[in-house]
Amino acid sequence: MERVYIGLGSNLAEPQKQLRTALLALDNIPATQLAAVSSFYSSDPLGPADQPRYVNAVAALDTALPPLQLLDALQAIELGQGRERKAERWGPRSLDLDILLFGDRLIDEPRLQV
Ligand code: AMP
Repeated sequence: MERVYIGLGSNLAEPQKQLRTALLALDNIPATQLAAVSSFYSSDPLGPADQPRYVNAVAALDTALPPLQLLDALQAIELGQGRERKAERWGPRSLDLDILLFGDRLIDEPRLQV
């Protein structure tokens, strides 16, 4: 098992509810347990300013999955919660899940940098 930290963010479609639903989904990823969750924080949007404020949190997971398989699982959760992949960088989103730390690994692959 490795300890992984996931950044969660939402600024659309009831953000607090999006984060709560995402936390349940994270705990349901195979070979993965949710270990701890931070408080929820309200923050200013980065990038385009004409969008709602974000709700952000960090979750600690313990997982036996390799990094790219965990990324697949996170992207499936994003899509399941209505995330549309848009060209606009840093635009509004119903759910964003980012791998902040994966054990003590340094990962530099086309789909994943940690
Ligand atoms: P974004 O639209 O900002 O959520 O970026 C998503 C893209 O970032 C995806 O295509 C991922 O493959 C890529 N990506 C690179 N590194 C990471 C990471 N550490 N966590 C999540 N996504 C990542």
